[in-house]
Amino acid sequence: MTRMDGKALAEKMQGQLAEKTAVLKEKTGVEPGLVVILVGDNPASQVYVRNKERSALAAGFRSEVIRLPETTTQEELLAVIERYNQDMAWHGILVQLPLPVHIDEEAILLAIDPDKDVDGFHPMNMGKFWSGHPVMIPSTPAGIMELLREYDINPEGKKAVVIGRSNIVGKPMAQLLLDANATVTIAHSRTENLPALAREADILVVAIGRGHFVTKEFVKEGAVVIDVGMNRDENGKLIGDVAFDEVNEIASHITPVPGGVGPMTITMLMEQTYHACKRFLGTQANQP
Ligand code: NAP
Repeated sequence: MTRMDGKALAEKMQGQLAEKTAVLKEKTGVEPGLVVILVGDNPASQVYVRNKERSALAAGFRSEVIRLPETTTQEELLAVIERYNQDMAWHGILVQLPLPVHIDEEAILLAIDPDKDVDGFHPMNMGKFWSGHPVMIPSTPAGIMELLREYDINPEGKKAVVIGRSNIVGKPMAQLLLDANATVTIAHSRTENLPALAREADILVVAIGRGHFVTKEFVKEGAVVIDVGMNRDENGKLIGDVAFDEVNEIASHITPVPGGVGPMTITMLMEQTYHACKRFLGTQANQP
């Protein structure tokens, strides 16, 4: 069994990104800028936002976190987004989800300039992605594809099963595997006989949000198992959706939690911001 070390790959890629950023800064005088907007005090969101800020600074980016109170109105949030849409020093804008219930998430995602939408959740970017012309790719599935590449796992011709159909993980994951010429099945909470279906997979991606849900019975001998889940057990310990200790006995490759998919998600977000900055510089260069 090979443990797929997302932490090590993320560190390697972030080191390379810091080098690319330094070169870009030297050549153009411009540094990629990422602004993260957090509304309210959801503890998990606060941790994610801190980690994003740390990674952005480590990459040599300009980084800002806007912390707004829970009582912020939709209009106030839209006004903040518009300010950063207009400000050319910022190439990536990320609104940390979930938002307080009185704010319409769709209206907020729609307001972000698609060129700065480094999460890839704007309908325009989603549409481009689904039609095979991706510009921004949701970070978690993008990170999983990097992990597969790093471990020389080519999805072409393989049978892949993705458990979970969210817009941020399950669906875009299925699309990327399809683009890589896997034969893909998406499973969800209404899927019948899930263990038997999952056992057909050469590549099994699990993104459901239920601690240790996927046991040995779900896994074919020699399968590649990717665990996206981030759950807390009764002691507050971070655990995945896959029962690692038993599944690792039969999988050929498996991602741990923590240290698997999570670090790759943040790394891909930084990559997207770097590329958004490069595209911005490209359009500037083409201006008369
Ligand atoms: P989500 O929006 O809640 O979607 C969960 C999906 O799992 C849904 O499609 C749901 O099916 C399906 N599901 C739930 N229970 C199931 C069951 N018993 N059997 C089969 N399918 C079931 O969650 P998400 O945002 O995709 O996140 C999934 C997990 O990944 C969470 O633990 C989250 O914290 C984690 N995550 C990690 C990262 C990372 O960077 N590592 C990034 C994002 C998310 P229905 O559609 O039928 O309800």
